[in-house]
Amino acid sequence: MGETAVEHHLTAAEAVQGNRVDSHTVLYGVIGDPIRHSKSPIMMNRAFRETGMNGIYTAWHITGESLPAFVAGVRAMGIRGVNVTIPHKLAIMEYLDEIHPSAQVIGAVNTIVNNDGHLIGMNTDGIGYVRSLKEEVEPDLRGKHIVMLGAGGAARGIGYALTAEQPAAITIVNRTLERAQELAESLSGLGQLAAAHQDELEALCSQADIVINTTSIGMYPNVDEMPVDPAWLKADAVASDLIYNPLKTRYLLEAEARGCRIHGGLGMFLYQGAYAFEYWTGESAPVAAMRETVLASLMNR
Ligand code: NAP
Repeated sequence: MGETAVEHHLTAAEAVQGNRVDSHTVLYGVIGDPIRHSKSPIMMNRAFRETGMNGIYTAWHITGESLPAFVAGVRAMGIRGVNVTIPHKLAIMEYLDEIHPSAQVIGAVNTIVNNDGHLIGMNTDGIGYVRSLKEEVEPDLRGKHIVMLGAGGAARGIGYALTAEQPAAITIVNRTLERAQELAESLSGLGQLAAAHQDELEALCSQADIVINTTSIGMYPNVDEMPVDPAWLKADAVASDLIYNPLKTRYLLEAEARGCRIHGGLGMFLYQGAYAFEYWTGESAPVAAMRETVLASLMNR
């Protein structure tokens, strides 16, 4: 690794006090428009403190027209890592030197690794979701019947990452059927995927081992809305929701009351950041500490 990747570890005492900033500090950050709501800086700075690495992570409000100048700045300043959020996940791709195959299939980049000016675009959203699902509720996804509600950007990454786990089938149900069909088609070489009409949802849920909400239905402030009737799920099924505001959506609360295992969206957020941290630094991400910091911030909002 070159100059951009050099990390200087802090002593334990320094790590507790806060991120050190000196002439060795390595820069990281997240770009988006808007961006001031982002919890990534507090989460990632906790990770740097916890591991004693001399890095600092901030948030940059970058508009579409300033994307090329931003990328030039990344190269000029040797910014080691960048996370990319709405609305730049697609547009950023043309400015990078290399796109990892996963990001290519998903059609979006959420993480940039800067290797001495060679910028690689990756996508950690889908693998972050799957790692969280496996670590928190269901370690073995092989042979499982999965229903995925929604066919947007997040669903693309999750669908891609799920195929690597060899589930028996992934059925995509979306308000706009054509988008579900297009997603199933684009991933069809990787596993058993199909699109289904919303009319079939009750029957599909009654057979499913895992039902994932990747739509924004139920997100604050529309907290009374549900993407699916939890009464349709098998009692031993997993109900999963990408939303983490609220931490437990009504869908999850009602599924839990029926005895289902539940899985909220906070883990996906944590692990997409954990993977980015690991790609940038080569060190394991301190996930428990990262979770603690984000949870505390969400509670104090
Ligand atoms: P997106 O690309 O805009 O896709 C939204 C999806 O939701 C589409 O399939 C859309 O259906 C569907 N949808 C939206 N409103 C609906 C409604 N009222 N009724 C039925 N379907 C509806 O968004 P995204 O980036 O994939 O994000 C989706 C959700 O995931 C958001 O809640 C977001 O906060 C969450 N998310 C969480 C994380 C995390 O780290 N936990 C990361 C990324 C995203 P149509 O195709 O018919 O429009």
